Amino acid sequence: MHNTSEHFIANARIALHNEQLQPVLNAVTQFLPAARSAALAETPEFRALSDYAVAMKDHVLEYLDDYLGEFVTHVRGRGGQVHHAATGADLNRIVAGICRATGARRVIKGKSMVGEETSLNEALETAGFEVLETDLGEYIIQQAQEPPSHIIGPALHKSKEQVAQLFLDKHDLGPRRLDDVRSMVSEARAVLRERFLEGEVGITGANALVAETGSFMLVTNEGNGDLSSTLPRVHIVIAGIEKLVPTLEDASALHRVLCRSATGQATSAYTTFYTGPRAPDDPDGPEEFHVVLLDNGRREMLNGKYRSMLRCIRCGSCLNHCPIYRHVGGHAYGWVYPGPMGSVLTPLLTGLEGAKELPNACTACGRCEEACPMQIPLPEHLRQLRDDERAQHVSPLIWRLGVAAMMWMFRYPALYRLACSLARPLLGWLSAHPGLMKKLPILGGWAAGRTLPAPQSHTFLGQWQRQLAAREQDTRL
Ligand code: SF4
Repeated sequence: MHNTSEHFIANARIALHNEQLQPVLNAVTQFLPAARSAALAETPEFRALSDYAVAMKDHVLEYLDDYLGEFVTHVRGRGGQVHHAATGADLNRIVAGICRATGARRVIKGKSMVGEETSLNEALETAGFEVLETDLGEYIIQQAQEPPSHIIGPALHKSKEQVAQLFLDKHDLGPRRLDDVRSMVSEARAVLRERFLEGEVGITGANALVAETGSFMLVTNEGNGDLSSTLPRVHIVIAGIEKLVPTLEDASALHRVLCRSATGQATSAYTTFYTGPRAPDDPDGPEEFHVVLLDNGRREMLNGKYRSMLRCIRCGSCLNHCPIYRHVGGHAYGWVYPGPMGSVLTPLLTGLEGAKELPNACTACGRCEEACPMQIPLPEHLRQLRDDERAQHVSPLIWRLGVAAMMWMFRYPALYRLACSLARPLLGWLSAHPGLMKKLPILGGWAAGRTLPAPQSHTFLGQWQRQLAAREQDTRL
């Protein structure tokens, strides 16, 4: 996937002027939080579940190599093969190699954020394979040749009229009407069923990798993941190393947290645990089973201050509650992971230089942290990334000098008060001359879309001290 994170501001501007996108974002970011709130209201033990999931994940991250070893032993013991990919390119090469070795041409894919992260589709197509996404949202954006705009709803930026037109253009099915969502879903199902049967290799992601059994958990609402896993002769699971959990019980706890946070469901329509290739007495399943474990920067996160990001279960709740995502949508972020979690992950996985705007695309409202079932301190991580920007000289010199000057001034209260008393009349004058303010450096960018309110006649500290003095006077009387 082509990364445009460095153009976040330009991308956001386009999204803000997209009249079709804005009502869709508005509806989605109201519907999903409401569904989550309703599900949590019916689950009084949700906080305890969340605490359990967080403690369990922290424990796994502390002993990651032990659990990885246990998982690998069990997968191999059940006849599966495990591969380790240090980078996205390694994962693509390993998957292409497996496909080539099995003589396959047609690959079907269930939804996988890791596959998006490594641009697996493009790599496989370049290597000569035919790749078909089978999750309906992923299928739609694959046909439209667009990136996903949400981690659980990749095509939610498209209206039903756009999807109908896309199907009319792409499916060679003659004249017909696609007036409602039901008719579109029926058509997609009919087209995809044929292709499922032709798939020689199936690739899926994993919501959890279970160390004690070598199983993996797959959560979907369409059943496409199950068809992609069981129908083809070869099944490849691609997953980040952070997906490990110790036991089946832990996977179950994670499942309860995930479904409620993602879609407000008590459980997804399909949840399946798979363990290895088809056993001799199994009625179905793949003959070959591979797991490709991706690092791609995760070990570096494990050993640093951003470790808690590895708890992320990709539920999308932080996106749905973020006022920035709500206005600009997923494409503005320019890469696979949008919203608050993307603003942390993208700089960490792709480099701060090319994603320096993302940590600043935050109002510090804290809703993402409140909505995160894995209690990841997203606002704190965004602040840390801003610190990293300054420390690594990624932010512009004038910005760094301004911040350094403010930090110095905050150390001297008297100086701070003096600066406020000088700034107040100046800001008052500027608020009366908005045209002039738009021409000033730095402030001009801020004023382009806002009106500076006239400051109060006294500073907060001044008013506070006057109130205190008045109270003391009253007490003495
Ligand atoms: S950061 Fe938290 S809320 Fe956001 S996707 Fe990850 S687990 Fe969900």
